This record gives sequence, structure tokens and C-alpha cells, in this order.
Amino acid sequence: MIKISSELASQHISRHAIGDLLYYLERIHWANNCNYHQLTIEAWEVGIWVKEVGIISYKDLAEFIRETSIFKASGLQVQQRSPNLFLVQGSQRPWYTVQRRSRQYICECMLYRCRRKRLRNEFPQLFEALNKKIFCHHIIAAYQSLK
Ligand SMILES: [Zn+2]
Repeated sequence: MIKISSELASQHISRHAIGDLLYYLERIHWANNCNYHQLTIEAWEVGIWVKEVGIISYKDLAEFIRETSIFKASGLQVQQRSPNLFLVQGSQRPWYTVQRRSRQYICECMLYRCRRKRLRNEFPQLFEALNKKIFCHHIIAAYQSLK
């Protein structure tokens, strides 16, 4: 079992997040017998182990994170304030600042900061599966506004 911080775990492998992932993957036979509050979840070297389901690969988790981030980004308003500065509509706060530094985008939201600070070291399996890219839905919205 991999030890990851509660910050990272609550964002990526909470019962709620994994419940959504299982629906996304259509691995839902467990839902006949229990609800997602009852799932037993551990991060293993080879994937996410869910007692009621089996192993879910980090590739599947990464794809789910990408897809949901794109979906969340799709409705957000973006104001470009300068070539490298964007304000992106948020939910916890009205706006988040996204900056572009050379080819990298940086956001000030909690999710982005948590991933940037922790993902590479604490959860290299998921970091690799995300092609070593640290992002959030605000960054995707800023990036897509340029197209
Ligand atoms: Zn963000």
C-alpha cells in the first residue's frame, strides 16, 4: 500500500471520487449491495484497489481526471488580462488567476497547488499516468480560450 497525504487522497481517491470513477468505467455491480460511502479503497503500486471491485489502473484514473477536468473547464468564463495572465471563473471564489510562464501554466487554486506540491513525490504512479502534467480545470479553460 502506498502512503499518500490526506490532502492528495481527498482530492483523488476519496470514496466520492472513486465512486464517480467506477460509474465512469461502468464497473458498477457493487452498487447493488452497497453505496459509495461503504467502499474500501487503498492506493497500491499497481493501481487503486477497491475491495468491492478489484484493481483500477492508474491509466484509467488519469483518463478520468483528464476527462472530468475538460468537462469542468467547458463552462467557465475566462478573461485574458495580458498575454500571460488569465482570470478564470471559480466555484469557491469568483475568479482564479492563471499565469503562463514560458510554456507552463500555474493556477492559484488549492487543487493545482496540492498536485504541484505533492503528486510527483507522493504519488508517482498517478503522476506518470498523467504524463507528468500538473493541471487543473482552470488551466484547461485558460488554455482553451486561446484557441
Ligand atoms: Zn486551478
